[in-house]
Amino acid sequence: MSSTPAPQVRENALPPEFVSRLRQIVPEESFPEILASFERPKRTIFRVNWLKITPDALEEELKSAGLHPIPFPSLEGVFTLPDDERRRLTETPAFYEGRLYIQNPSSMLAPLLLDPQPGESVLDLAAAPGGKTLLLASMMQNRGILSAVEPVTERYHRLRRNLENAGATMVRTYRKDGRGVGRACPLMFDRVLLDAPCSSEAKFSTLRPQSFSYWSLRKVKESQRLQKRLILSAWESLKPGGTLLYSTCSFAPEENEEVVAYLLKKFPESARVVPMKLPIDRWQEGLSRWGKKSFPPSFSSLRRILPDENFDGFFLAKIVKNV
Ligand code: SAM
Repeated sequence: MSSTPAPQVRENALPPEFVSRLRQIVPEESFPEILASFERPKRTIFRVNWLKITPDALEEELKSAGLHPIPFPSLEGVFTLPDDERRRLTETPAFYEGRLYIQNPSSMLAPLLLDPQPGESVLDLAAAPGGKTLLLASMMQNRGILSAVEPVTERYHRLRRNLENAGATMVRTYRKDGRGVGRACPLMFDRVLLDAPCSSEAKFSTLRPQSFSYWSLRKVKESQRLQKRLILSAWESLKPGGTLLYSTCSFAPEENEEVVAYLLKKFPESARVVPMKLPIDRWQEGLSRWGKKSFPPSFSSLRRILPDENFDGFFLAKIVKNV
């Protein structure tokens, strides 16, 4: 256990078990800052929709509307703006006509690292509300096959509305349970994104106590059960030589390293974790052990994004299927 004193967060502001686990997961020196990040609102960050406009033209349009967009470092076409301008941003034609999309930069990393190419066949296995699907479609320049799966009716319709608004015409949507997709579409995709349903630990905020009111270790384990079934389905749907990007917005090793380890154990011959080059440096390597479990040396290539006022916590794993 670390000896770093806890920072001044309100007593019992977050579930104590969550906090004590977090302390064991993240680097000791970053723990106080990470804990404090749950107490602060995130900055407003958005990206250009390349299908509709260029970054320069978007910046001009927003400036003409009296806003002050600031290019965000390291990520092309991404901007932030002063906090008191957020509401006005959501009232601009650029926002409601889909020329921009408000998205945390951590969420942009999964599509960027999957790196889909125009003309390829790509699957987004847990897609709503579609922020990552939209980025995939724009990276593919609306060319090729992009299938987006979402089983929850209300979320499925929100996904459809977002895709339509953004002009992501290439996307085929399916209101289906992702667990059955691998069996229905074996060896079909060049790349698969599994941005898995999770306990959403990285979305906790003490400003919104309902964000963690349902959290429990049981919920983490339940999420893991679903994630294991989904990652097997994703794997089955992937062509030999294809790439799977697995991500969650949870810190829990049960939902991250353990799920990747489960896949590797099932497919020791074909599944291989590969390195990722991130455009930012707020990350830590995958854990080498958690409790009694130890993980392979290749897990140093897994990435946990460390949260601050810009970035949400996030977990990323890139896995290639050997030919
Ligand atoms: N990728 C999305 C984005 O960037 O906008 C966010 C995805 S969210 C983390 C996980 C999604 O998985 C939720 O919309 C949830 O409804 C969906 N989901 C839940 N169970 C699922 C299942 N069995 N198969 C596929 N998706 C599922």
